[in-house]
Amino acid sequence: MSQAKISLLSHASVLIEVDGKKIVTDPWYFGTAFNDGWELNPKPDLEQIKGQIQDVDIIWISHEHPDHLHFPTLKWLAEFVRKDVTVFFQATNSEKVFSALKRLGYQSFIQMPHMKKIAISPNVQLACYAHRHLDSSLAVFVDNHFWLLNVNDTELSTGDCSLISKQFGNPTVVYNQFSIAGSDGVESSLKNYAAKVMSEMVRQHKELKARLTVPFASFVRFARTDNAYINAYANDVFEVNRQFADAAQTLCVQAYGSGALVWEDPTQLPVNMNAVHSESLHLWEKTENPGPDLHEYSVISAAEVQTTIESRIKAWRDATNPILWRFLKLEKITVLVRDWGDQVWEIDFNNATFSQVNAESAADIQIASQPLHQAFKMPFGIQTLGVSGRYQFGAKYQTVPASWKKIRILSSLFNAEIYLSLSSIFSSSTARWIWQRRLGLSSQIVQQVKRFKGS
Ligand SMILES: [Zn+2]
Repeated sequence: MSQAKISLLSHASVLIEVDGKKIVTDPWYFGTAFNDGWELNPKPDLEQIKGQIQDVDIIWISHEHPDHLHFPTLKWLAEFVRKDVTVFFQATNSEKVFSALKRLGYQSFIQMPHMKKIAISPNVQLACYAHRHLDSSLAVFVDNHFWLLNVNDTELSTGDCSLISKQFGNPTVVYNQFSIAGSDGVESSLKNYAAKVMSEMVRQHKELKARLTVPFASFVRFARTDNAYINAYANDVFEVNRQFADAAQTLCVQAYGSGALVWEDPTQLPVNMNAVHSESLHLWEKTENPGPDLHEYSVISAAEVQTTIESRIKAWRDATNPILWRFLKLEKITVLVRDWGDQVWEIDFNNATFSQVNAESAADIQIASQPLHQAFKMPFGIQTLGVSGRYQFGAKYQTVPASWKKIRILSSLFNAEIYLSLSSIFSSSTARWIWQRRLGLSSQIVQQVKRFKGS
């Protein structure tokens, strides 16, 4: 085999060069994500990236979060990349991602079935590991050896790691997310969350028996007045470096300007690893933190927010089996809207109403009208709110209230076009999806239920 290389371009985007093929992952190079809650930090050099990837063969998208599937960036790319570039994305029960990319001018698509290898050149194969209802990892095989596992946001459990190792072997290198990706709205939980991301990264490295981990996919900051406090809890590459040193595991930090990691042999460590690592740490030391952008939002009127919330709840209710809906026991939630002069409003899920109430006791949630409106306006709005962190539960909450957890799950299933109704559960597209995902799915559902009960 000739050399294989991986360059860090931006956030979760790397350029993989192997066997004459160029693969770009999750391109997000400018602009914001998650209702303007996130910005790239630092910002990459667009001209340099353009030069590196104009002849790219494959774009792989891990999942539908806008820091991974960033439509403005993909639109910009479509203007200069080759017309026959192929977009690889996990097989799901929906065609909506490919349909949206077709409208941007992309013509060639490959649906990746869960854990099935796809040859892209005589010596290289790709496979995806679909995770829960949304996410996926990318496995790259070179000369039949498991070279790379791009874990990014997939929170691989012990069961996932053993399934991957059993099926594919042990990866030489793992690329993994290293910091917090949102807030559950309870500030006191952020410190533990950040520590957990670190320990999970080390655990996955060990369980996968990887030779090397490279931290990426967390090069962002919480960029608005209402979520900037979260930055104080974020992990940086120096912290990851310490954690891996303490655990006596091998880590290599990369930076945007550090150049590619180069492999002569896909079973061994990269030949220039030490040089890249020390140069990258030096580059990160010199990187200045720009500080929060004090961007404020326009106020959304109460009438508009009310219409939006009420119609969203009705849509969820209509798509859910009535018995299940009652079984969910959704309790009312009170909301203090910061930019409506701290008025308190109540969301009543059972009656599908949003109305102002007298604020006798502290409200459950504090939020501004714009993120509140977005949360219910977009099908993925509740998830976006969690990732942007632009809300906070009242001081009385040490954990997320049960009703909110249920709404999170309901809305995320709804967005994945999985409805809790009999006709949907028995539909052929859902059945096909369950069959394709049979390896790993049941343990991931258990993980989801644990999360639901726990955090
Ligand atoms: Zn994500």
